[in-house]
Formats: sequence, C-alpha cells, structure tokens
Amino acid sequence: MIPITVVDVAAAEQLVLQVLRSGAIAQGPMVKRFEDAFTGVAGVPHAVAVNNGTTALVASLQVLDLQPGDEVVTSPFTFVATLNAILEAGATARFADIRDDDFCLDPAAVAAAVTPRTKVLMPVHLYGQMADMGALVPLAEQHGLAIVEDAAQAVGATYEGRAAGSYGLGCFSLYATKNITTAEGGVITTGDDALADRLRVLRNQGMRQRYQYEVAGHNYRMTDVHAAIGIPQLEQLETITDARRRNAEALSKGLADITGLRVPQVLPGRTHVWHQYTVLVTDDAAVSRDEFAAKLTEKGIGNGIYYPKTVFDYDCYRDNPNVIASDVPVAERVARQALSLPVHPKLTEADLDTIVTTVREVLGA
Ligand SMILES: *Cc1c(COP(=O)(O)O)cnc(C)c1O
Repeated sequence: MIPITVVDVAAAEQLVLQVLRSGAIAQGPMVKRFEDAFTGVAGVPHAVAVNNGTTALVASLQVLDLQPGDEVVTSPFTFVATLNAILEAGATARFADIRDDDFCLDPAAVAAAVTPRTKVLMPVHLYGQMADMGALVPLAEQHGLAIVEDAAQAVGATYEGRAAGSYGLGCFSLYATKNITTAEGGVITTGDDALADRLRVLRNQGMRQRYQYEVAGHNYRMTDVHAAIGIPQLEQLETITDARRRNAEALSKGLADITGLRVPQVLPGRTHVWHQYTVLVTDDAAVSRDEFAAKLTEKGIGNGIYYPKTVFDYDCYRDNPNVIASDVPVAERVARQALSLPVHPKLTEADLDTIVTTVREVLGA
C-alpha cells in the first residue's frame, strides 16, 4: 500500500528527549524557539504558538472583538474546523463560491456575499496554494474587513512573493498530517504588534503577569514537547516542500493527458506547497470518482476525498441561524469530483511510477 500520508518526525528524537529530561515540559523556551523560527516562514514579526489549528482560528477571531451577528465570509469548500471556529467565536458564517482552478474563494463571489454585517474575510489556502489575494485584499480594504487566513494547509506558500500568513492574522495547523507537524499544534502569525500581544495574553488565561488578569482568557498553550517535535522539520521546510513539489510535477507529467482527469494547476504568481495533490474526475471519465477511489484503494494506492460535501451541508448546521447556507455550484461540483493522490516527501520514484501506471489503468488511458 502506498499511503496518502506518512508522518516522519524521527529527526526530533534528541530534542524531544532533551525536553523530557529537563522536566520543564509545558510552554517554555522550545515554544519560543519554534515561534522564532516560524516568523521566518510567514515573513512577519510575530508568531504565536497555540495548541491546534482550530484554536488558532478561534483566537484570531476573538481578538478582533466580533459582536453577535457579525459575519465572516469564507469558503464552503474546506475542512469543518473553518466553520466550527467561526461559530465558537460567536460570529455568523456566510459562504462565497470557489473557483475550480485554485479551489479557493472566487473574489467576484466574495464581493457579492459581503453585507453591512461583514467584519472578516477568511480565505482558505486550500491544498497548499494561496487564494487570489491580489483581488481579495482590495475587496477587504474597500469594505473595511479584517483578514484571517486559514493557512492550515499552506505553510511556506506564496502569492506574488508574499507568504501565507502575512496578509492579516495567519492561522496554521501543525496536526500530524500537515506539511509541518507537532502532533497537535497551531500558530498565528501577524505583523500587528497589538494583536500579537492580545493573542499572547488570551492564550494564557488572559494573564500578562502572574495573577494580573486583563481579559477573560483561555488555555490555548502549546507545550515544549510538541514544539520540539516541530523544530527540526521547520529547519528542513525547504527540503520537505521541494520533495512534495518534485512529486507533484512527476504526477502531473504522467497524468496530464487523460480523458476525464484534470490535474491540479499552479496559477501564475503563486507557489504551491502541495499539502494535497488533488485531481478532478470529470463526467467524461471512464469511471465515477467514487469507483475510481475504490479501485485505487483495491490496487494499493492510498487516496482521499477532501471534501465530499460543502462544509455547511450537514444536519448539525441546518437550523443554525449563524450558518447562512448559499448557492455554491462550483464548490458542489468540485466536492463531487475531487480526489487526492499521495504526494508526501517519502514517495520513491518507483511509488510515483506505480501511482501513474495504476491511475492510467483504472481510467483506461
Ligand atoms: C487542519 C485544518 C484546520 C484545523 O487544524 P487542526 O490543527 O486540526 O485543529 C483548519 N482548517 C483547515 C483548512 C485544515 O486543513
């Protein structure tokens, strides 16, 4: 079986042992070291480590002082954490459709979704490629919206040379399957000194100094054990991303000409960090997307459907007044057609050949 994802944290053994032996295992100097390294990734002065990516989104919305009824415009084609974070922060989620070339927010649809209650624009940089920030940033400025980037899948990605996480509050996930992992973890990046300060206070029970509480806070802290897992990967980020990029190029070279299969595109001005390599299985394919997925699994090729439905299309959100479902035909089609193939750095050339050959065979190409 060629798995869809492989977790490789062996390089962290010594550093993790060092933390365990020190006896100081909660948030401390390793978290600080992780944060300092992460500012380089987003190219901003501040990185605030937290306990997961969902928390990063929640905390970012909390420091923006949203009031009940305030709206966040986001993508309907995303992991459920994007929506759950908006609801946990007490805001209302409104959805704009995506484009089918980058799978991210369509700026024209965002313009149409903005209302007088909209306070935040939350683009999701899906699969490792950034949303069209060149069009979204002016829209946010025009309507006075804060930008919270769901950059959970986009560590190191750039748009016209500017990194994910540098456009507002950048929210990253360090979950086990993400490009950089601390097992569970998250980071918020920002160039705004005041917001970074508020995030640090909020993360630690609203406390600046011992028993000096400034706001009703929370425990969003990362531990030094987790930070130690991530530091060696952060040092290797370029190598890790290059391996993913080479794998994606090999897959596209082998799969670009198949009827019924559309390989992922890297749009001009953007760099892709290939969290997922996601193809569209279109209506003219020899088999349906779901048959394709089943056949690949049967033949030992790991694969994943991210995501099978639009994020709001579940019973638990149906009657929630803070979830404003909308017409999103592109997202609905992409949810029916998308399938991700292995692209992780541990793939060998033989694995890549096997994936290409098997996909061609299943699609009769
Ligand atoms: C992983 C992910 C999150 C949530 O991160 P966790 O660390 O799992 O809490 C949020 N948004 C997107 C798009 C993700 O892929």
